[in-house]
Amino acid sequence: MKKLTFQINHHCQEMRTGTVTVNGRQLTTPAVVQTGSALTTLTPAELAECGVQAIKQDAIDYWLTASHPGDLHAFLGWSGILVTASGADRAYQWAKPRGRKHDGVSFHDPVSGQLKFYTPQDARAIQRGLGADLTTGFARADAYFAPVDDLNAAVEQTNGWLTSNPCLAGDLAPLVGGGLKWARQTSLTAVPAGASGYSILGVTPDVPVAEQVRLLNELVGMMEPTKLRYLPTSGDLHQLVAALLCGLDLIDSDLAGREAAMGNAIVGFGRLPLDRERFAGDGQALADRCNCPTCRAGVSRAAIHHLLTTSQPVGERYLLLHNLFTINQLLARIRVMIAAGQISADLRKFTRQCGQ
Ligand SMILES: [Zn+2]
Repeated sequence: MKKLTFQINHHCQEMRTGTVTVNGRQLTTPAVVQTGSALTTLTPAELAECGVQAIKQDAIDYWLTASHPGDLHAFLGWSGILVTASGADRAYQWAKPRGRKHDGVSFHDPVSGQLKFYTPQDARAIQRGLGADLTTGFARADAYFAPVDDLNAAVEQTNGWLTSNPCLAGDLAPLVGGGLKWARQTSLTAVPAGASGYSILGVTPDVPVAEQVRLLNELVGMMEPTKLRYLPTSGDLHQLVAALLCGLDLIDSDLAGREAAMGNAIVGFGRLPLDRERFAGDGQALADRCNCPTCRAGVSRAAIHHLLTTSQPVGERYLLLHNLFTINQLLARIRVMIAAGQISADLRKFTRQCGQ
């Protein structure tokens, strides 16, 4: 892996916009890291057309199947930024309490039933082998509201791994510790100078957004400002915008696919439930002046309603393209707002409506 640079171009309140350059690829922040059904439904060219800059793969899936695809950019045909998760969180979910060892985690593969032992060294080797541009370190991340003793053990274990496996360029150091300030602080102090950024673990979508905001504001204030801030949590639009306003640079998102699967088109900060009867005779495009592949092709709300209600998969696909484009357009708009030093009235109104 070559050197990673993160150039911060503009600040606005806690937010900043910048350019990440790694392995000859670039990404402008803040940005979403695409996860979920978009990656299994759309081609790399369609993802790029919808403004996707980064995709995510879970390294443990490749490690478990012992497949050796080599560099995933070539294997998947993806020329943008590739982020990999270590998958340690899933190994922990599969493990019994006695499987939590000091040097890794032991568990039965849920597919083959074979006993496996996954270590920080394995996680690093597989992520490097897959050609990841940004990697997330091995961590024991307990639930946000886990008992203090468990959170303490998670911090101690993760810090031990972090200090015994020095960070390389592109590594995002895991931060654990649930909602406890002192635990998060202890986790943060173990991050070596060589880490390219922080990956804030354990902030699951079920944690109330106001609590997420409290934690993220606290953490951002303690972080080295030149390092990347990554939140690997795929929440709803409110959670995404809240994290952006806290100053996160990269945030996971599978929102486009989840909304499309429910028959919803994202329009502005709201959504249209296209499977409802009232759209049966609606000849309008999904959104005014939308330049997504679906709206550009002239596909109407009525057409998508028909496709959804007659169970034709292309209906969901049209929604996915539109939603993905819309989310990435929102991010592009936010980058422009940060550069201009002013947050728009509609974004402020949305956050106020959500109780922020
Ligand atoms: Zn559209």
